[in-house]
Amino acid sequence: MILDDEPFNDKRINVTALPETEVTCKSCDACCCRLEVLLITDTGVPGRFIETDQWGGQRMARLDDGWCAALDRNTMMCTIYENRPLICREFEMGEYECLVERKANL
Ligand code: SF4
Ligand code: SF4
Repeated sequence: MILDDEPFNDKRINVTALPETEVTCKSCDACCCRLEVLLITDTGVPGRFIETDQWGGQRMARLDDGWCAALDRNTMMCTIYENRPLICREFEMGEYECLVERKANL
């Protein structure tokens, strides 16, 4: 005989919710600013941050540490945010590419 209040027959499962790691740029290390950023529109990026390849294509320069030349190494924030390239504007926090970079670099 099964009693409703018998503890061994309690079918409820206690689920412990594991905290999800919050995806935010504050908990990141500017992972996406190590990617190659092609300049496909003119957003006013200062020339000192631009590299031109042998075919005339333009991209954000990167320094020896791998990060974009326009990244402030102390704050890990973009120093040309108002003029950042279109690709940077369209890169969305929490989207697939962001998660891939975080997983690879954090
Ligand atoms: S968009 Fe994503 S990868 Fe880029 S700094 Fe923010 S959290 Fe990091
Ligand atoms: S331009 Fe700014 S947002 Fe874009 S890669 Fe460089 S530092 Fe990051």
